[in-house]
Amino acid sequence: MAKNRVTTHLACTQCKERNYTQVVGKKRAVGALALKKFCSRCRKHTDHKETK
Ligand SMILES: [Zn+2]
Repeated sequence: MAKNRVTTHLACTQCKERNYTQVVGKKRAVGALALKKFCSRCRKHTDHKETK
């Protein structure tokens, strides 16, 4: 049951730091998502892109 889940990371597009992890269903395409999130390295809100 747990096998159709995959962990993805949300990486800052400016410094490439991976700030967030999330678990999503495998059927969802990875890389489509881009969110504004707080980056602790940039110390501001930046675009974060989903990566593996
Ligand atoms: Zn950053």
